[in-house]
Amino acid sequence: MTRIGFIGLGIMGLPMAANLAKAGHDVTGYNRSAAAMERLVAQGGRSASSVSHAVEGAEVVITMLPDSPDVEAVMLGEGGVIDSAAPGTLLIDMSTIRPEVARQVATGGAARGMRVLDAPVSGGEQGAIDAKLSIMAGGSEADFDAAQPVLQCLGTTVVHVGPAGAGQTVKAANQLIVAGTIELVAEAIVFLEAHGVDTEAAVRVLANGLAGNAILQRKAQGMLARDYRPGFRVELHHKDMGIVQAAAREAGVVIPLGALAGQLMASLQSRGDGGLDHTALLKLVEELSGRSAS
Ligand code: NAD
Repeated sequence: MTRIGFIGLGIMGLPMAANLAKAGHDVTGYNRSAAAMERLVAQGGRSASSVSHAVEGAEVVITMLPDSPDVEAVMLGEGGVIDSAAPGTLLIDMSTIRPEVARQVATGGAARGMRVLDAPVSGGEQGAIDAKLSIMAGGSEADFDAAQPVLQCLGTTVVHVGPAGAGQTVKAANQLIVAGTIELVAEAIVFLEAHGVDTEAAVRVLANGLAGNAILQRKAQGMLARDYRPGFRVELHHKDMGIVQAAAREAGVVIPLGALAGQLMASLQSRGDGGLDHTALLKLVEELSGRSAS
């Protein structure tokens, strides 16, 4: 049993913290809004009154927050995790943030004798609920090994991908692929519907051929039903496309299709659809084709 402080109990964080409690760990959660903490308590965890309270006595601290400024504030800010946790504590940030912020957190933690991993995830809300996430970890091999008993309760594919920040770089590539794939699946759906094809049948056969992918398998049914309840919000994917673009520029590589997918995601965000699931890219394709979005 490990004493774990868990900060950020949103769509992803709450089921992850609950799975850790279910596996027998002693989990104390903290979230900005109290309702999420009550839900964790109902699932075997404890609630804390502040970040510093959540990390008190913790051997491992996990953060699952929206964006880079949130992680900076919670990890590096006054009264934050690095201020409050004991030397030797293992800090695992599982949010999706900029790789350079992950490296700053690693440096700040190391200066206080803490061990730090960036370990963003893929697999969505269902992957978090089922403890079947893919977890891409950056940091030292020794810290990765020390995190195994915790990470194995959250995911089925847990891979060390390199030093501090590398987990976030791999996650950025993941988001590039996911955005582009959703856009192509959306275009295929509008194309098929315009031809009057049995779209359910088409999706079934496409999902198992060379065009098969996780979006067709897991998201297409929701897209056909125009069910855009999140899931993964457009505003978060918009944030991630910004990370991808900046990281590509830094490396001196071009991502023409990624840039286009990023612009379409930005359009959804700008027109007020930031709270919808990222599959709402389908709405844009319908409108660009002169077909009324439903
Ligand atoms: P979310 O907005 O549902 O959850 C974030 C939680 O953090 C919220 O409950 C919010 O109240 C809390 N929070 C924010 N600032 C805080 C602070 N200072 N102190 C305490 N709590 C604070 O977001 P999510 O969908 O759970 O995503 C979390 C992270 O995981 C993001 O970086 C996202 O990009 C990434 N991610 C999400 C998914 C997904 O499918 N939703 C999948 C993979 C990765």
